[in-house]
Amino acid sequence: MTPPRNSNAARDIANVLHPYTDAKAFQQTGPLVITRGKGVKIYDDQGKEYIEALAGLWCASLGFDNERLVNAATEQMRKLPFYHSFTAKSHEPMIDLAEMLIERAPSKMSKVFFGNSGSEANDSALKMIWYMNNAMGKPNKKKVFARLKAYHGITLAAASLTGLPANHKLFDAPIANGRFIHVGTPHHYHEAKPGESEEDFATRLAEELEAKIIAEGGADECAAFWAEPVMGAGGVLVPPKTYFEKVQAVLKKYDMLFVADEVICGFGRTGSYWGSQTFNIQPDVLVCAKALSSSYLPISAVMVNEQVFQGIAEGSSTVGTWGHGFTYSGHPVAAAVAIETLKIYDETKIVDHVAEVGAHMQAELRKRFSDHPIVGEVRGVGLIGAIELSADKAAKKPFDPAKKAGPRLCKLGEENGVILRAMANDSMGFSPPLVITKAEVTEMLDRVAKSLDALAVELR
Ligand code: PLP
Repeated sequence: MTPPRNSNAARDIANVLHPYTDAKAFQQTGPLVITRGKGVKIYDDQGKEYIEALAGLWCASLGFDNERLVNAATEQMRKLPFYHSFTAKSHEPMIDLAEMLIERAPSKMSKVFFGNSGSEANDSALKMIWYMNNAMGKPNKKKVFARLKAYHGITLAAASLTGLPANHKLFDAPIANGRFIHVGTPHHYHEAKPGESEEDFATRLAEELEAKIIAEGGADECAAFWAEPVMGAGGVLVPPKTYFEKVQAVLKKYDMLFVADEVICGFGRTGSYWGSQTFNIQPDVLVCAKALSSSYLPISAVMVNEQVFQGIAEGSSTVGTWGHGFTYSGHPVAAAVAIETLKIYDETKIVDHVAEVGAHMQAELRKRFSDHPIVGEVRGVGLIGAIELSADKAAKKPFDPAKKAGPRLCKLGEENGVILRAMANDSMGFSPPLVITKAEVTEMLDRVAKSLDALAVELR
């Protein structure tokens, strides 16, 4: 159906290139235009209400109408709407936020660098590590390991770390051929051998990682390992028991850094303040964004330990400057909103709230969907989860992609008032605002159940 001329939809089709959208098909389908939000709900330009099962893009942790964040931004806008942090300039919001992050870090961190997005933060972390190793006389120690199905963003270095085909195909990624190495995905349901326990699977993955490190030149050439505690865009993949302990033991052996990408998991999502704490990770570098400001304004952060900082300090003293930074690094208004967000997390004991409501969501997901005829696996921890659709539960077989089972479920979800997102293998993710209540989780899953039943009928 052609949208009326001058409608939002028509003007969008005429002018916008959308991220993560089939640009050609979009010319026919058009957008869903959202105009406002309240709590865990959003409303489109026709006034229809939806529960945002993914908080936008794993983002609006405090819901869509937090007045305190609005006030924090307004006050800072009036006081100092912009200043930068190049050439030793500073301002209080950035100083306060850096201090708060260091205090809350899951391992001992030394300094914080600010960016605007998760991608920028991952690119920055990688540049820091390369810079450090050059400065410390280890110019060959540059190879970085990430996992197949990882998502670390889309700027060229971050996209190279990412392990998803759509982020590589036609983009000439990974760049710097040979420096980006992808190892096995820690997803027991699909990747474990028949009868292999979670622990044995974890041991095998750690052994495979070690073999790859040795093949790639060992400690002399291998610099770091990147990981999301729970892999998000790859389908909400929760690691098997003992996985990160075993991986960290390997990294120690080869003098490699652990970079925790906490862009989704940070700030309570998994039921601990950091995903690193849920999975016993002691990161050397930590990347966060999204829930840092409840995503009301763009801001990301990279925390580095003393070793990385010393490398950067050494290098910048030789070059004369640490030649890296964004115009908006530590932007005062974004920093003010992030400070207020962290204060709200503390005051409302958000981690305890997630532990309680998350346990409810996990139990309900399993109770309602584990035995559903078109659901293969239900997984998750805290307030992050997924149901993976399956054409044949026993064989763990996905639906033929031509059937578009995931996108069709999203469409049915929209009709029933819930925004869903389909990922690899028709995995449907859940990552609602952290402030969601148990009653709202039930309401959200009622709408999902209705949509899933309708899809099962359609696919029969
Ligand atoms: N890292 C993780 C784990 C993410 O989930 C994302 C985005 O979803 C990114 C990095 C990239 O963040 P951005 O889209 O802000 O660049």
